[in-house]
Amino acid sequence: MITRVFSSLLSIALAVLLALPAQAQDTTQKVVPNRQNAPKQQNKPYVILISADGFRYDYAEKYRAENLQTLASKGVSADALIPSFPSITFPNHYTLVTGMYPAHHGLVGNNIYDPKLNERYSMSNAKAVKNPVWYGGIPIWTLAEQQRLLSASFYWPGSEAPIGGMLPSYYYAYNEKIPIERRIQTVVNWLSLPADKRPHLINFYLPEVDHAGHLYGPDAPETEKAVHFVDSAINALNLAVQQTGLPVNFIFVSDHGMKTINRNEPLSLPFPVDTAEMTVVSNGTLVNIHVKDKKKTRSIYESIPKSDKFKAYLCDEVPAKYHYGKKDDKYNRIGDILLFANAPYYFSTRKPNPGAHGFDPYETPEMQATFIAWGPAFKEGIKIGAFENIHIYALLAKILKLPYKHAIDGDSKIAKEVLK
Ligand code: AMP
Ligand code: ZN
Ligand code: ZN
Repeated sequence: MITRVFSSLLSIALAVLLALPAQAQDTTQKVVPNRQNAPKQQNKPYVILISADGFRYDYAEKYRAENLQTLASKGVSADALIPSFPSITFPNHYTLVTGMYPAHHGLVGNNIYDPKLNERYSMSNAKAVKNPVWYGGIPIWTLAEQQRLLSASFYWPGSEAPIGGMLPSYYYAYNEKIPIERRIQTVVNWLSLPADKRPHLINFYLPEVDHAGHLYGPDAPETEKAVHFVDSAINALNLAVQQTGLPVNFIFVSDHGMKTINRNEPLSLPFPVDTAEMTVVSNGTLVNIHVKDKKKTRSIYESIPKSDKFKAYLCDEVPAKYHYGKKDDKYNRIGDILLFANAPYYFSTRKPNPGAHGFDPYETPEMQATFIAWGPAFKEGIKIGAFENIHIYALLAKILKLPYKHAIDGDSKIAKEVLK
């Protein structure tokens, strides 16, 4: 009897164990029912917005990414794409698709605390990433869907939440299990759908270069290999998409760069943390401190010793260039005291990885990202100066002829410079 109970308990435990990873690695395509391109939208061009996470502004040249260099020389490229502060993944991917600085769109970190909601956001928390309350602005796929132009996403921060009540027509929950060949084939399949079902905006995301950069550093052979992997994937995607004969435009960007950091002297918080008094959220190069009793903010701030390894700011004293101070903090999420690590230092309770990002992109140019674009809408063979990533939104909206009235931080100057 006992053995039988034990064995059935064991099989339940096994079933749970087997079910858990399956749920955590959901690789199925999500399709929103009843979506169709409006008839007047069906003749519009197509855009594939690709992000290769952590693809530093100089990697294509440094590692001779031949396909990307050829595409750049035939199309448009910039000296660099300047990330918004903090130069980390979620804030910048969401800036790319909203045209707003992080404090204006609300995704102020990969990890966030919202005192009004009394909730935390983390990019690895599947429930939080699907909750639209964290995402302000109007992402470009929402703008498209509102105007009955279909969109698809093969991963993008924010794309799993019904922002403004709208998800992309086709999307995937983030996972790193689907091989690149299947992902490319899925894009071709989307572009082979009948005109009323075919997405005109496709987001496509590649994590490999960021992974290698963190684990081995920006100068490591593993990072070079990851750059070549992305270079081959983009070549394969480009060739496969050309076969469709559709007027498809490609915008290849990244969210930030990568820097070798000082692993031997990780920064620790410069005061004892009493969780009854404050909530501390670390994003590695940036620490956001929410003080519960605001009367104590100044004394905590004044207790912080001066250091050449980080800067401490009260939220109303953050330099305007960061767009990350109290005046910018539309969602009240940046905290009362902020610590900004000076490269190559990093806040960590353990020995940090060799590579990191998140620093001020002007003081630390290794934070700067990549912009390469090609396709029928783009001028041919031009190189432009570095520009901020808030301007990508207007470029996408212009190619797809999507009008918008809401205020954003970017403008259409870059679009005018690079489009035919
Ligand atoms: P970080 O380097 O800490 O700024 O974060 C980059 C990591 O975020 C990548 O290496 C991915 O593993 C992860 N990531 C990227 N996009 C998503 C997404 N849409 N959902 C969940 N995790 C993601
Ligand atoms: Zn990133
Ligand atoms: Zn990263």
